[in-house]
Amino acid sequence: MFKSEKFWRRPGWLFCLLLPLFHFASVKLTFFCAVTPENVVVVWLPNAVLLAALLRFRGQRAPLLASLTFTSDVLANLDAFPWYEAVLLSLVNLMEVAITYLLMRRGRVSPALRRLRDLVRFVMAGPLFGALLAGLLAALVLQQVGGATTAYLTLARLWWFGDGLGLLIYTPLLLAFSQPRNERLRLTRWDDAALALTLLLSAVVMLAHGGEIDGVSVTPTLLLPAVAVIAFRFGTRLTTLLVALISLTTAMLMTTGLKPFGEVPIHLEVVRAQEFILTLCIIGIGFAVLLNELRTRERELESRVRTRTRELEQSNARLAAISATDGLTGIPNRRRFDETLAAEWGRARRHRQPLMLALLDVDLFKQYNDCYGHQAGDDALRAVAEELSHHCRRSGDFAARYGGEEFALIAEAADEDQALAMADQICAALAALRIPHAHSPSRVLTVSIGVAVITPEEQDDIADLLKAADVALYRAKQLGRNRVELASVREKV
Ligand code: GH3
Ligand code: MG
Ligand code: MG
Repeated sequence: MFKSEKFWRRPGWLFCLLLPLFHFASVKLTFFCAVTPENVVVVWLPNAVLLAALLRFRGQRAPLLASLTFTSDVLANLDAFPWYEAVLLSLVNLMEVAITYLLMRRGRVSPALRRLRDLVRFVMAGPLFGALLAGLLAALVLQQVGGATTAYLTLARLWWFGDGLGLLIYTPLLLAFSQPRNERLRLTRWDDAALALTLLLSAVVMLAHGGEIDGVSVTPTLLLPAVAVIAFRFGTRLTTLLVALISLTTAMLMTTGLKPFGEVPIHLEVVRAQEFILTLCIIGIGFAVLLNELRTRERELESRVRTRTRELEQSNARLAAISATDGLTGIPNRRRFDETLAAEWGRARRHRQPLMLALLDVDLFKQYNDCYGHQAGDDALRAVAEELSHHCRRSGDFAARYGGEEFALIAEAADEDQALAMADQICAALAALRIPHAHSPSRVLTVSIGVAVITPEEQDDIADLLKAADVALYRAKQLGRNRVELASVREKV
């Protein structure tokens, strides 16, 4: 249910109910595992709960969310402080989160915290600035209202570091788990080994009383390389989770008096733990976010290259189509005709099938131009081309403008009779267009057609076929135009 889109779109009643409970649980978790017997807080997690909620919902219902966590904070603080001090300290916490949130909003930090730039701005706004301000104010409250005797700067530093680290560990974790997953994980054997080794190391570190085993120093610092490997392989979600677990476990070891950083005074131990957690965050979260950013950029770059390649292929295809098309009539041009004839020639030879070639020439076209003008001549050529295309409906049929007022047709034909019939049909169909031509004997625009049919063999040449069709066309002209003549390729050439 928590992962459903509806739950995360805006803070609804269910979220508002769960938020203070979650906040309260975070306070309890902090007290359980991050407070030393001397009541020193190593990391203070709860402030990150409100900050993550504000960031996740981009400030929607901010006053309500703030009031809810404030109430929970006061209630949780009542265990340790009188009510007026609890209220003041909760106000300090609220101010810390509000300032952090406003600074991040001003810096246009994306709530996903998936880019290094966003992470750096978050660290500056929250752990560095918001938490420092809160530390200075809280120390004042603790001294002036609560009567604490510890030095002001020590109190301020403890509060600052505890709050800063809490924000640093917990905010990216909560945000990472409230965003849709953008990394798909496929475990390799090396990943399994890395996880197993990390677990083993963690167990060794946890068992090492006083930071050493048999005189060998074994502190949580040993886990840093393992976290770097996890960050490298497993992405932000798992790394933030691991960083939080290690941080809290380390703090918990201290609260149980196990002294993971060796036999040192408590204040020094807390400083060591905080240094360690800071390094852990920088290496783990910083590295994971940096890698995530690099991978995202790589993916974006790859997708841009893919888009460009597709565009290039499309424009290449367009160019190829243009370079193969006749500009005036829109049917294939001479270049395309040559390619097609060569291809069909090869196919016919392989399959031992007859191939038909017809050359068409518009009759008395010079006079047509002279009489009606070149514009009308162009229109007539377009009409001839269109009619010719209508006769090329079968898959093997192909018509092209051969040049000038000449056209060519390639087709599969069973034999010469079928080829002649097809050519006759075209010749008649063109005359039937009844394009007026005053200087033609039939008074309409006509064509003459030379047809040649061949079943190509090894020794045959395309040029012979073309020559034969041309000869037949010449004969059609000689015999009075508006007619079809057939050339028998092998006999007549
Ligand atoms: P024939 O019946 O013997 O083929 O006579 P013809 O007049 O058609 O042949 P000729 O080769 O003497 O003239 C061809 C004419 O075709 C000359 C040229 O102006 C015209 N022509 C060639 N290409 C085009 C074109 O793209 N547009 C126009 N309007 N005319 C063209
Ligand atoms: Mg001609
Ligand atoms: Mg002509």
